[in-house]
Amino acid sequence: MKFGTKAIHAGQEPDPTTGAIMTPIYQTSTYVQESPGKYKGYAYARGKNPTRIALEKNIAALENANHGLCFGSGMAASDACIKLLRPGDEVIATQDIYGGSYRMFVNIFEPYGIKFHFIDMHNASDIKKLVNEKTKMLWVESPTNPMMSIIDITVCAAIAKEKNLILVVDNTFASPYLQNPLDLGANIVLHSVTKYLGGHSDVVMGALCTNDDKLNEQLAFIANSCGAVPGPMDSFLVLRGIKTLHLRMDRHCSNGRAIAEYLRTNTKVDKVYWPGFADSPNHAIAKKQMRDFGGMISFTLKGNSMDEAFKLASRTKVFSLAESLGGVESLIGHPASMTHASIPKEEREKSGVVDSLLRLSVGVEDLEDLIADLKQAIG
Ligand SMILES: *Cc1c(COP(=O)(O)O)cnc(C)c1O
Repeated sequence: MKFGTKAIHAGQEPDPTTGAIMTPIYQTSTYVQESPGKYKGYAYARGKNPTRIALEKNIAALENANHGLCFGSGMAASDACIKLLRPGDEVIATQDIYGGSYRMFVNIFEPYGIKFHFIDMHNASDIKKLVNEKTKMLWVESPTNPMMSIIDITVCAAIAKEKNLILVVDNTFASPYLQNPLDLGANIVLHSVTKYLGGHSDVVMGALCTNDDKLNEQLAFIANSCGAVPGPMDSFLVLRGIKTLHLRMDRHCSNGRAIAEYLRTNTKVDKVYWPGFADSPNHAIAKKQMRDFGGMISFTLKGNSMDEAFKLASRTKVFSLAESLGGVESLIGHPASMTHASIPKEEREKSGVVDSLLRLSVGVEDLEDLIADLKQAIG
């Protein structure tokens, strides 16, 4: 089955009792047993819920995975991955990862004895240099947030295989429509479902997909034991959202392209970060591992003034100033003070998150209105 058909149908059957075409919201915490221990597969809803299972199967199908697990947020999904590790283990992660992941790794898991290295992953030799007998996991984001840099997932997968590491790819920015990391050799693919998969800025959720039965078993055990599972209503909203994922992504991509090109022509704009430019770093790798380049764009202003960036972000009218991304509505954000505020200035500037950097999540509105809005805001 092709992507659009899977998005609409995978994991979903008409309800056996009524024929309802949409998966019902099984708003229940427990299930009646015939006699102790004799039940129809469902005992307690932390472990299993039919609405959630339909969604897990659906997301797994989109990632060409055998297994999918949903969590209460993207961070809860990341948390479950790190809980695969033990004190003394080491993780090598992309330098400019999502600020919340950095915060959790450093503030929550380092005190438990897990060590994290944050490095530029463009050269395989830099990754290999850090691998020792304690290294257990590679953590990759591509495109990265907010610099849109591209990491070669195939190269990382080869290192992971050679050194026996678990390769986790946070695929939130690309969505399964643009990139399928498991096909490129990743062991686990992670989503903040909150973003493109949900797509309507009305749900917080996370997901993990894998083809590895043993990893899936461990992750499902962690999910049930620690309990960060999403509710049935949210699962229903995401099932509904995903039905238009392919349509939305096409528009995110075409609007994104036009806006990236427009920004390059604006004389007040300094640099524009979007992996679709032929002269952007690692464009060839982006072309190889992604089907298109998405609707996430970052740019800086000439003079690099934080004040000018703040003013610009408050002047936009169609682009709302807000955290998050991937919804139908366009958003603008200032990473240094918002999503990346928890990363020390020195650390964030190393990866390019400078004072005037602004990040756009280009929505699916009419392009003319989006460009007119940016024109008036940038001046
Ligand atoms: C938002 C985001 C997360 C965290 O997801 P939540 O659903 O907000 O918990 C993780 N990684 C990336 C790349 C994100 O954009």
